[in-house]
Amino acid sequence: MTQFQHATEKTVQKRRSEGEMVEVTCSFCGGRGKDPFGIMSWLSTCCVCGGRGRVQVPALHGRCAHCRGTGAIKTFTCTVCRGTGHVPLIPGPLQACPECRGTGDDAASALACMTCRGRGWVPQASHR
Ligand SMILES: [Zn+2]
Ligand SMILES: [Zn+2]
Ligand SMILES: [Zn+2]
Repeated sequence: MTQFQHATEKTVQKRRSEGEMVEVTCSFCGGRGKDPFGIMSWLSTCCVCGGRGRVQVPALHGRCAHCRGTGAIKTFTCTVCRGTGHVPLIPGPLQACPECRGTGDDAASALACMTCRGRGWVPQASHR
């Protein structure tokens, strides 16, 4: 009779910062809570923050490259950050996007860069 013994040792570490949200000033309206471009009316509610002037973003966030942190592309809500002006950051080494060189823009279409999804950075290639 043979007996197999195997040690099952697993170290599972959970990132505490995961899912944590913080409240910041809405970039789209600058915290005023009103439509900054007066598309409907200067008195209409900001579509990004719902008139609160504050938005929730992940605790780990950075400035949106595509809209330069303004939350707006011309008079439209930025599709990358949905108007908040901030994008979630991935923990770990990052590098400037080789496609748009960190601008977050697609040179041909003026839309968000496909490679970095408008964020301007990509996770650094890991060597294992
Ligand atoms: Zn707003
Ligand atoms: Zn943006
Ligand atoms: Zn890019």
